[in-house]
Amino acid sequence: MDEKDLGADLAKVLIPESDLQAKVRQLAGQIDADYVGKDLLLVGVLKGAVMIMADLARALHAPASMDWMAVSSYGSGTKSSGVVRILKDLDTDIIDRHVLIVEDIVDSGLTLSWLVSNLRSRGPASLEICALLRKPEAVKTDIDVKYIGFDIPNEFVIGYGLDYAEKYRNLPFVGTLAPHVYGGDGA
Ligand code: 5GP
Ligand code: MG
Ligand code: MG
Repeated sequence: MDEKDLGADLAKVLIPESDLQAKVRQLAGQIDADYVGKDLLLVGVLKGAVMIMADLARALHAPASMDWMAVSSYGSGTKSSGVVRILKDLDTDIIDRHVLIVEDIVDSGLTLSWLVSNLRSRGPASLEICALLRKPEAVKTDIDVKYIGFDIPNEFVIGYGLDYAEKYRNLPFVGTLAPHVYGGDGA
């Protein structure tokens, strides 16, 4: 799927595919260097992290295990509900494992701070976060995102895993939607 297929739904491309791919390779290089000799478990947060997880995992040189969690934090709209619930838990026991949470975006940070305390209570050897995108709100929280792709403005973004009402995840770039898609209020 590319820009043409979106027609008038797309407002603009915020991060082109080539920039995403370059950044993911750069993050993988840092992660490879930091986890030398360690058995790394990547924990992707469904569904938004699917694209970064797939690209990051392939860009790593060291072998890594992959597991997934699904939590609910947003409904089908664009505002955080503030409620976090496990929809799918890990298949793996993470005690004494080196765990790296892989997330699509940190906005309010509600989801991640909940996830971090939940996973920390399971006794991993280490627990760090890699997030592709970070919004301005997130900077105000005390969440320590060790590996960050891009700081972006406070706009609702779609693509490269990120959805609006479950659509647009399959875009290879990150963009913003035209106001008419939300119902014309420009939210
Ligand atoms: P937070 O708890 O940090 O506010 O965000 C939780 C989740 O909401 C993110 O992991 C992501 O799935 C979703 N989210 C936050 N901001 C955006 C955005 O701009 N676009 C999309 N599509 N999802 C977002
Ligand atoms: Mg997410
Ligand atoms: Mg979503």
